[in-house]
Amino acid sequence: MNMFCFQCEQTAQGKGCTIQGVCGKNADTSNLQDELTSKLIELANCDEKNESNTELLIDGLFTTVI
Ligand code: SF4
Repeated sequence: MNMFCFQCEQTAQGKGCTIQGVCGKNADTSNLQDELTSKLIELANCDEKNESNTELLIDGLFTTVI
């Protein structure tokens, strides 16, 4: 699996981590977190706004902070 992560300000040379994350993250984790964030953006853009969705967004985003 190819590595490309641009999820934080510590990214290698400001261009994205492409071999191994500066933080130690591997390609599998990076790709899963990209997928999760994409789905959270879809949820944020959906028409149904409620407390449950808000909690899910917060929990989902904090799972990407490692
Ligand atoms: S692999 Fe880690 S250090 Fe590199 S951009 Fe992603 S989160 Fe930041």
